[in-house]
Amino acid sequence: MAPDPSLDPSPSNLPDPELTGRPTPELERPLPDPPDRRVGFALVGLGAYALEQIAPNLASTQHARLAAVVSGNPDKARAVADAYGLGRAHVYSYDTFDRVADDPAVDVVYVILPNAFHRAWTERAFAAGKHVLCEKPMAATVEDCRAMIQAGRAAGKRLMIGYRAQYDPYNLRAIEEIRAGTIGAPRLVVADHGRILDLSELRDQWRARKELASGGSLYDIGIYSLNGARYLIGEEPTEVTARLREPSGRDEVNVEEGIEWTMAFPSGVVANCSSSYRVSDNKRIHVQGAEGGVTLDPATDYYVRNLFVETDAGRRQITIPRANQFARMLDEMALAVREDREPKTPGAEGLRDVRVMQAIYRAAETGAAVRIDA
Ligand code: NDP
Repeated sequence: MAPDPSLDPSPSNLPDPELTGRPTPELERPLPDPPDRRVGFALVGLGAYALEQIAPNLASTQHARLAAVVSGNPDKARAVADAYGLGRAHVYSYDTFDRVADDPAVDVVYVILPNAFHRAWTERAFAAGKHVLCEKPMAATVEDCRAMIQAGRAAGKRLMIGYRAQYDPYNLRAIEEIRAGTIGAPRLVVADHGRILDLSELRDQWRARKELASGGSLYDIGIYSLNGARYLIGEEPTEVTARLREPSGRDEVNVEEGIEWTMAFPSGVVANCSSSYRVSDNKRIHVQGAEGGVTLDPATDYYVRNLFVETDAGRRQITIPRANQFARMLDEMALAVREDREPKTPGAEGLRDVRVMQAIYRAAETGAAVRIDA
């Protein structure tokens, strides 16, 4: 039988192929800005979140770039600067930070310090003439939040809070499904966030101390249940009740480890929420409506989200490719600066959560329902 030429790996009778350029493919997202045109971010505090999530994800943005680092550990700061190709001129300590005022590479100061430092470092960054992205929870008290907002106004600079889930395509799609009426009128939210507080980990040691963390599981992870209920329902809670869960009794811990609370919304929706440092990983938010339910489980993980919509027609899982919430959040800050506009999650958004969290603590303390004024 004659050999089949289509199966011959080196047929001698075909012309040589030519290397040629091709047109630009249709891109799902446009090419990023060139490095020198991107908005420069200085990271303050080179801890787990800054180094594992933010620094690497800055490289996935369209409009932002790492421009400087600020740290109390000079060796670590230099190593990070070298790894990301930053010159030594863009490495600051907490003592030399104010010189960032003269560093034109830095547009935004991103405060990723323990919570008790958020207010002071936001004010310091504004004083240096920079915009501020500050991690959640915004600050210890409503008064602190107001002072931070005021400092930004006085400096004529933007303030954004790092609510990454509000930029997450899965959470945004859940909002869309609810607003579109897929599950009928929303009636109930169940939102739980939990993890084991591991005191052998540096990042958990400060979280156990009120003087550094400002609050306990509620301020750290319960805030995702609270913020999630607010954005999924699209209303502000008017009343809360709460009770503390059994503490572990560990001497090193002087914050609340577990708390359960309910929030009443104007439309009649009730949210049953919890946060705990004494249960294994749990990041679930469920909204039940008159005609079905939306479940995000996990809702607020860094890289894994599952979204389910259940109606009479059955249960469907929605999958969204390339859903990088970090890049979207960082690009929002960059664009707010460039376009001279309020970011989507400004200081006022951080303040709302702090106000509700303080009401939750009061409700837990008194055992009575606490009203939240608009
Ligand atoms: P880490 O403990 O890992 O990092 C905190 C860093 O702050 C330290 O590495 C250190 O940086 C600096 N620091 C300065 N003074 C102190 C001090 N007295 N005690 C401890 N650290 C100090 O914490 P995280 O990165 O987990 O959290 C930092 C912030 O980010 C918090 O506000 C947290 O709520 C927020 N966060 C937000 C997340 C989100 O998903 N949005 C996820 C995780 C955290 P250096 O050594 O460089 O001086």
